[in-house]
Amino acid sequence: MIEEAKKLLKRYYGYDTFREGQEKVINSILTSKDTFGIMPTGAGKSICYQIPALMLSGITIVVSPLISLMKDQVDSLNNIGIKASFINSTLDQHEVQERILMAVSGYTKLLYVAPERLESESFCQLLKTMPVSMVAIDESHCVSQWGHDFRPSYRSIAPLIRNISPRPIISAFTATATEDVKNDVVRLLGLKDPDIYTTGFDRENLFFSVIRGENKKDYILKYVEDNRESVGVIYAATRKEVDSIYELLKIKGYSVGKYHAGLNDSERTKAQEDFLYDNINIIVATNAFGMGIDKSNVRYVIHYNIPRNMEAYYQEAGRAGRDGEPSECILLFAAQDIVLQKFLIEQSIFSEERRVNEYRRLQDMVDYCHTTKCLRKYILEYFGDESGKEKCDNCSNCKDETELTDITIEAQKIFSCIARVKQRFGTVLVAQVLKGSKDKKVIELQFDKLSTYGIMKGYTIKEVKDLINILIADNYLALSEGQFPVVRLKERAVEVLKGEQKVFQKIQKRKVKAAEDNSLFAILKALRKSISEREMVPPYIIFADSTLREMSEKYPIDEEAILSIKGVGESKLKKYGEEFLKVIVNYVKDNNLQGMSGTLNYNEHNENHKEVAIEKEEIPSHVITLNMFNEGKSLKEITELRNLKFTTIEDHIMRCVLEGMDVDLDSIIPKQYEEAIIEAIKKAGAEKLKPIKEILPEEVSYTAIKAVLCKIKIKI
Ligand code: ADP
Repeated sequence: MIEEAKKLLKRYYGYDTFREGQEKVINSILTSKDTFGIMPTGAGKSICYQIPALMLSGITIVVSPLISLMKDQVDSLNNIGIKASFINSTLDQHEVQERILMAVSGYTKLLYVAPERLESESFCQLLKTMPVSMVAIDESHCVSQWGHDFRPSYRSIAPLIRNISPRPIISAFTATATEDVKNDVVRLLGLKDPDIYTTGFDRENLFFSVIRGENKKDYILKYVEDNRESVGVIYAATRKEVDSIYELLKIKGYSVGKYHAGLNDSERTKAQEDFLYDNINIIVATNAFGMGIDKSNVRYVIHYNIPRNMEAYYQEAGRAGRDGEPSECILLFAAQDIVLQKFLIEQSIFSEERRVNEYRRLQDMVDYCHTTKCLRKYILEYFGDESGKEKCDNCSNCKDETELTDITIEAQKIFSCIARVKQRFGTVLVAQVLKGSKDKKVIELQFDKLSTYGIMKGYTIKEVKDLINILIADNYLALSEGQFPVVRLKERAVEVLKGEQKVFQKIQKRKVKAAEDNSLFAILKALRKSISEREMVPPYIIFADSTLREMSEKYPIDEEAILSIKGVGESKLKKYGEEFLKVIVNYVKDNNLQGMSGTLNYNEHNENHKEVAIEKEEIPSHVITLNMFNEGKSLKEITELRNLKFTTIEDHIMRCVLEGMDVDLDSIIPKQYEEAIIEAIKKAGAEKLKPIKEILPEEVSYTAIKAVLCKIKIKI
């Protein structure tokens, strides 16, 4: 059965393999078991019910909470040739009738409905006339009061299902994994002895970082300047903050939109569409934005404030990098935000038990901001996944990108000033005194007579405030709660005042921008945009960035070659293949490059790929790589110099080996592991790399395994 599912995956979605967890969930559904998939945002939950829906005889009802996104979800499916439809309040009676007819007749395979619709008696009657094979419930944590998006109408799902005969399979999905929520989903949705899979919480392509105590607006300005071409989301806790960040970016000329509950429906829809359609690069939003957004090319998600809990954080941050390309999740921490979150909890939760629970979860979030261990490990452990390595080398704690500056003198001045004003004032007043401000309040309180008055004259008020914030974030100072927070000294600060401890500020090194877009990638993006306007669907529905990127690196020049690119299935080939191929072929010709043609792709799984030189005299790309390799450059250096993906460079080298060129493979294979790799290949077979890698010690790289595989093949 799973083989059939894999064929559908390739045919409709253009992917070769299921991701971790998908296969298990699909298997379970196909054996008619109720199934509960707990998978992080971006892990690929939709495919878990869409593929079984294609294989089951009747229709699959998908309960999805957001009306605004249904159209996109259904457009996406229709675009890859799957018969899907939705029913919600945006349609008139006639349209609803028509769609129901299609569903009853068996034409539609997936019917998306909003939970509110399930409360309507007439709709429930209608469902009885349809051959319902499965009910798939997306964002199923909405059924639980413990979750962060409680939707009362989710409670009508279970009674509804009881009314359908024969009982359909129920599949439920969520990214929220706390025990309370899990239990609620099983109980309140009436899952019968379900198979529960908590899978792959790790999102390897995401770089996590926590930035403490920096001036947040300055940070954002620097970041967006360094990443001008990238698409990103900036989350802030309040509408006021969203407005002010939005104004700041707008004035500086960035292509930006905003989204919060204070805007009217049409403003919100416009902002969302502008973002989905790539008309704007950045969206600044409260957490009202994004549930179910599956725009795949979001390169960064910045949290301007600490979110309420890890579930919310991981869900929002997880909207970065759904296409699997490297992306960043940055949390800007300031201690003041904890006060804000506590205030929000006080305001919105009235049951004592739930409030205590919320405080506990907020504390876990605060601990994340202060931990010195691997951030990824912290996240995975929070979600009950103990399998992570101690260090991931892909978060700000594992990869320290900061430089230390000694700020002991400044800190002593600040602490001493706080002591002199008797620890009874807030950051602004302390900064004013240090700066030597003539502000009325300072003079009235006679703080101009203090010995610390004006001892930081050379700084601006903002700079002094920023320094105080750093000292708060690093636990030298505490802020009281309430409307007018007061700064106080902590034990550590006293040690600094006594000269027993030094204080260092971490300064973020400015990052060199990630790989520049090559020009073919830009051309393909422009083509995608024009098709998106013609067909009135968001660009990512046509092809994901990662698909265009692969095309721009591999230069497929015929149908078979383009079909081997990840994300190109049969339906998309038919629809867009010709247009994209034309552009690529022209590009290849104009630039004297080699295109890729042939039967299969050259990747981990097969080596049947062949490239065809359009211009015979041109040195083939893989030979250029080999020449550089023979000159003593490492694969990593070549990757950077050629601005290609590491796997492409690896593939070049392996291809040279297979074509009989002289390559010093032994320099890639660590001698001490060669035997072990050969043993692992014997055990796990040579079809896939991952099972081989899993048997071996962690330090054995994929490159080494590929190299050994090549060596064996030559011998054979
Ligand atoms: P979720 O609902 O879990 O947040 P989605 O279902 O939206 O995630 O999938 C996220 C992205 O991953 C989509 O762009 C999807 O096409 C892609 N994806 C899903 N499964 C696979 C797979 N097996 N191989 C490659 N990409 C996949």
